[in-house]
Amino acid sequence: MMQLLRELPPVHELQKSNRFTSLVEKLSIPDSQVTKIIQAEIDYLREELLAGNVPIEKPNKLTFTEYIWNNTEEKVLKFKQDRLIRVINGTGTVLHTNLGRARLSEEAITHVVSVASNYSNLEYKISEGKRGSRHDILEELLTEVTGAEAAMVVNNNAAAVYLVLRALAKDKEVIVSRGQLVEIGGSFRVSSIMSESDAELVEVGTTNKTHLYDYQNAISEKTAMILKVHTSNFKTIGFTETVATEELVELKRKNSHLIFYEDLGSGSLYDFRNEGIGEEPVVRGVIESGVDLVSFSGDKLLGGPQAGIIVGKKEYIEKLKSHQLARVLRVDKMTFAGLEKTLRSYLSSQDLVEQLPTVRDIIKTDQQIYEQANDFCVQLKKYSELYHLQVLADTSQVGGGTMPGVKLPTYIVTINHKNISTPELARILRTGTPAIVTRIKEDKIIIDFRTVTKKEMPELIESFISLSGMDD
Ligand SMILES: *Cc1c(COP(=O)(O)O)cnc(C)c1O
Repeated sequence: MMQLLRELPPVHELQKSNRFTSLVEKLSIPDSQVTKIIQAEIDYLREELLAGNVPIEKPNKLTFTEYIWNNTEEKVLKFKQDRLIRVINGTGTVLHTNLGRARLSEEAITHVVSVASNYSNLEYKISEGKRGSRHDILEELLTEVTGAEAAMVVNNNAAAVYLVLRALAKDKEVIVSRGQLVEIGGSFRVSSIMSESDAELVEVGTTNKTHLYDYQNAISEKTAMILKVHTSNFKTIGFTETVATEELVELKRKNSHLIFYEDLGSGSLYDFRNEGIGEEPVVRGVIESGVDLVSFSGDKLLGGPQAGIIVGKKEYIEKLKSHQLARVLRVDKMTFAGLEKTLRSYLSSQDLVEQLPTVRDIIKTDQQIYEQANDFCVQLKKYSELYHLQVLADTSQVGGGTMPGVKLPTYIVTINHKNISTPELARILRTGTPAIVTRIKEDKIIIDFRTVTKKEMPELIESFISLSGMDD
């Protein structure tokens, strides 16, 4: 064993090799990075040898050196690859939190690029030639699309909830129905955000039922706020009762020291109910019913970039804007640019569905999806020896913790490869370029074409052809 250990090449020797310089130059990667990778390879071999394992055949200095170079080259190439990559979403889930939620419109992307690659008036009043505030940039557009008096944008909706509670209810009581103490996407819990913000949670009602008198009885001089949380990601069914927004508005009117804040979660600006999809209220309706403050995400049903949008009464929005935390939670110019064009799509209703991928994909008809699914199978017909394909009716989800229980009729293709196991095929698709994320059901790959764009179809088909092994 000691004999073999002596065969391991030292780092300084490998650094002098042509392969070292060519790696550094060809891939323009710092030599320190290459050295680090080489060192890790040598260390690995040493540990294996000490443990009595010989990881290569015919171990000697030459084969060890070759082994180290091969692994180093592979790792360097991997290091050079982008970490954030595009994915073809074959799951049919439109707002997939793991896959980045909403895709932006072309208009939004163009605006982001323009604003990001140039100077902008982010904090500058062009008309006066004076310093301005980024909080004012989108306020007019936001009040226009929601009907609210005032508006501001923070980093995400979780940040919006935190800012509202901290700035307006710190050291005071906030009444929340037990049926609305939700957890969203792992790390966001209403109760935890509340304690982080130093607002005191007053739980009322029970998990399934909360009555108006539960709220009434909980009000005291210490109460600052009634918080209604949209139960975005689950549905209570059966023996349930919640208090309507209108009733809470009435209750607040009778107790003028209270603020009524609704965390809407998704915050739709498009009325999907008109298409027979879900029961998601539109922001304008909530504002019109008399709620003081409403917050919602930019990248859920709205279909824009990650952001938390707060709209409502001017006196409260002004307080939020001037709070220290507004600086901590402020968003970047790229977000404003993406959000601006997203909001503008809502102002021109005839372009709306064409422009916004999120809205378009949610209301995409099963007939449109069937055509894509069928087209996929037709294009792969030549490879029917290798692929077993079947078009089936199924349902897709909206996702992103929105519209729970809503099942959108869709068409899927189930896929089996003759020589590749289903988990292996899923892995190959996932790790390919572009990465294709699918679902697996009953040992079949499933692609739901709701979330596959027409533009992605040729690439998707090409990926399957290239791994058929029959390509010429
Ligand atoms: C999604 C959601 C949040 C968190 O929003 P992010 O934009 O993801 O931070 C908060 N509250 C509700 C009700 C939600 O649905």
